[in-house]
Amino acid sequence: MKIIRTIKDMQTFRHDHITKRIGFVPTMGYLHDGHTSLMTQAADDNDLVIASIFVNPLQFGPDEDYDQYPRDEKRDLNIAKKHGVDVLFLPNVKQMYPNNMAVQMTINDRVDVLCGRSRPGHFDGVLTVLTKLFNIIQPHQVYFGLKDAQQVAIVTALIQDLNFPMTLKGLPTVREQDGLAKSSRNVYLSPDEREEAVWLYRSLLHGIDLMSAGQKDAKIITQSVAQMITEHTKGTIDYVEILSFPQLKSMSRIDESAIIAVAVQYKQARLIDNVLLHPDGELIRMFEYKH
Ligand code: AMP
Repeated sequence: MKIIRTIKDMQTFRHDHITKRIGFVPTMGYLHDGHTSLMTQAADDNDLVIASIFVNPLQFGPDEDYDQYPRDEKRDLNIAKKHGVDVLFLPNVKQMYPNNMAVQMTINDRVDVLCGRSRPGHFDGVLTVLTKLFNIIQPHQVYFGLKDAQQVAIVTALIQDLNFPMTLKGLPTVREQDGLAKSSRNVYLSPDEREEAVWLYRSLLHGIDLMSAGQKDAKIITQSVAQMITEHTKGTIDYVEILSFPQLKSMSRIDESAIIAVAVQYKQARLIDNVLLHPDGELIRMFEYKH
């Protein structure tokens, strides 16, 4: 596995492999099975896999955990190497943002809901860094986890609206044995919180059950999901929402594909989880958008 730290070297590498089909997996590191599932799929689909690790300051709010975000480069190198990554791009902040940026991305739609509402500016930061990375790496296919479903919806809009010639693949959420979605931030849960956190997923399964039984009223389902979370954890609910996907429009009656999404704030970690469903309650495991 080749390690590249500068934009210039990354562009030279890409130029030297101009005929290859490139799969790209952007990450913030502290790799776990959710990340490696994207890498393995990218290796299956493409000639070369490029992954990046960059904790992007632009996407963290002033009171968020940029400084505390877990980092372990040595461990990440080993994991990436074992999961089909050919090139690991590890730029530092000075490489990515050498000056104050005169031009940045702003998203106007799909953002006043879910995490976009609770984390103002977060998705603008995500889109700015991804636009830079897509331009530097020029991948054919990009891989994202559906755990961050709003990110998938927003990157789909980026590819569509700004004509990036690439395919986005949204892959299933990888979970711990008890159902908790894997996340780099899970290390910040106390033992009690870790036990309770399984109720995020259990409450989503309860939402699926309601839909499968024919319930179409989004409010009844969100209330019931929220009640289950409240009864079983001391974390504070940030949101429980049902929206269309990937447009992220609110719906009172569920008659098209929908996402049930939850976010719960614990002492030192904010956890998110979701399920994507057909209107009859059948699970949608993968999402693909081809430009
Ligand atoms: P992050 O390092 O948290 O920015 O995540 C990098 C990529 O890995 C994003 O596309 C995430 O959606 C994806 N990812 C994170 N956790 C999981 C998970 N549990 N299952 C699947 N994909 C994930």
